[in-house]
Amino acid sequence: MRYSELFCPTLREIPSEAEIISHQLLLRAGFIRKATAGVYTYMPLANRVLRKIMNIIREEMDRAGAQELLMPIVQPREIWEESGRWAVYGDEMFRLKDRHNREFALGPTHEELITSLVNADVHSYRDLPLMLYQIQNKYRDEIRPRFGLMRGREFIMKDLYSFDADYEGLDISYNKMYEAYRRVFERLNLKYRVVEADSGAIGGNESHEFVVLADTGESEIVYCDNCDYAANVEKAACVVEKQDISEPMRDIEKVATPGQKTIEEVSAFLGISKDKHVKTLMYEADGEIIAVVIRGDRELNEAKLKNFLNCAQLFMAEENKVRKLCGATFGSLGPVGLECKVYVDLEVANMRNFVCGANEDDFHLVNVNLGRDFVPEAVADLRNAVKGDKCPICGNSLDVLRGIEVGHIFKLGTKYSEAMNATFLDQNGKEKPFIMGCYGIGVSRTMAAAVEQNHDEDGIIWPIPIAPYHVIIVPVNMKNDKLRTAAEDIYNTLIEAGIETILDDRDERAGVKFKDADLIGIPVRITIGPKSLQENRVEIKKRWEKESELVELTGVLEKVREILKG
Ligand code: ATP
Ligand code: MG
Repeated sequence: MRYSELFCPTLREIPSEAEIISHQLLLRAGFIRKATAGVYTYMPLANRVLRKIMNIIREEMDRAGAQELLMPIVQPREIWEESGRWAVYGDEMFRLKDRHNREFALGPTHEELITSLVNADVHSYRDLPLMLYQIQNKYRDEIRPRFGLMRGREFIMKDLYSFDADYEGLDISYNKMYEAYRRVFERLNLKYRVVEADSGAIGGNESHEFVVLADTGESEIVYCDNCDYAANVEKAACVVEKQDISEPMRDIEKVATPGQKTIEEVSAFLGISKDKHVKTLMYEADGEIIAVVIRGDRELNEAKLKNFLNCAQLFMAEENKVRKLCGATFGSLGPVGLECKVYVDLEVANMRNFVCGANEDDFHLVNVNLGRDFVPEAVADLRNAVKGDKCPICGNSLDVLRGIEVGHIFKLGTKYSEAMNATFLDQNGKEKPFIMGCYGIGVSRTMAAAVEQNHDEDGIIWPIPIAPYHVIIVPVNMKNDKLRTAAEDIYNTLIEAGIETILDDRDERAGVKFKDADLIGIPVRITIGPKSLQENRVEIKKRWEKESELVELTGVLEKVREILKG
């Protein structure tokens, strides 16, 4: 490709609407352009990256025994009624009507469509297992489309669905996908972690997320360096060993804390460290007001609380209801004398003589003790895991990382097949629902995640397996015949060898060309300048290194091949 012909409009300024680096760089480097909120054009260079990501995914899905098909984006309301999701999907679903007033969804996902498809044509256990996938645009009217391709309203996903005759079969399909996903992210050359995930609303039981590591990611994960344990903080179990509490219980005391609301304020006011405080949070669980007590410096994990209570609806209680029940409001609450069920985090059960609100505005209690001063309904693991917690597998100290969820695999079981009455005949001629799994990779999000993980202050540094082109040749002056001829020669040699190369044939200053080459992130730059060319040499620079290397003209192809091999 000649740069003069390339459609890659780069920008010098950082676009003001872009908050995170991948969004900024993809816009600046001419990879994407916004059509409307959360909807983007993939420009030619981005399209090449996406094709490479898709090809790696395709190869690994096919290797695992899956088959690619292509389902429609427009899906009739009826199948969503069958699964019950037309009502529950809510505002995230794009809906439209045809001229006859019939209703449709733009596919946010394809469980319904594929379940009805397979149900219509698969009748016997002999046709199972079956793994089908597609790579296609998905539509979700996200509340906050943001961060460019990270959270779009139209985005590219690979979605795969497995159908098995029994749960042993599902385990096998799931493991195949788990391995295939690992191979995909290895081949993409991204640093990632597989983490245990909360299967949340999707149902089923087992679920894993594939998270590309990046400080700006929305996912927080805890992991163990000693063993393989890693989990989403929403899921990570907090182990608290029963401690031998030797400290004697002291007499409970009520102290005035005028105007002191937050744990920070009360802790400073009383001169008692934050880990000796507890906080009391009031929730409404299926209509009942409850109190949850956790250590003052911890965060409550609502997913754990919801799972533990096994309730359908959970939200923070309103202030007026809290005041009515407790006689005080947020900032002065505590578990002593409360007229509602109190749930206590495991860690609090190990605390002695702690501080809490007195259920009277501007007063706190010190030297409070569980058992003596209040009796909880239950003690459970209710907080978010944090750095330094013990690994639930090996006991080592856990660490925390941030990342971007790029893949998610679920065991669905019979959630959709039962709702949609999708069955086959088993060996005994008995009708059974399909046992299903679903497996997604955000293809466009993966491109953004790759940038988020691989860049410097000058631009993108594409990992070689997904770089739009591998080499960019930069003659420092196109008006110099010798330089131009040498550049053309190298260009032809590389193209003939099948190496994806850009020749920067623009009549621009060398500085401009270097800036663009760095910005668009091409892994290998070959600079042709008058001085080195006189000695029959060119400069070769790897995008991720500062220094370049002088290479004999005759050795250029070999050198490039060596770098690209990694
Ligand atoms: P999230 O929690 O980020 O909203 P999700 O749980 O809704 O993700 P899935 O339904 O499991 O996502 O979709 C599979 C994959 O599709 C995700 O792992 C992610 O990589 C990608 N994806 C989901 N929503 C978006 C989006 N709005 N924009 C880009 N990619 C997305
Ligand atoms: Mg989502």
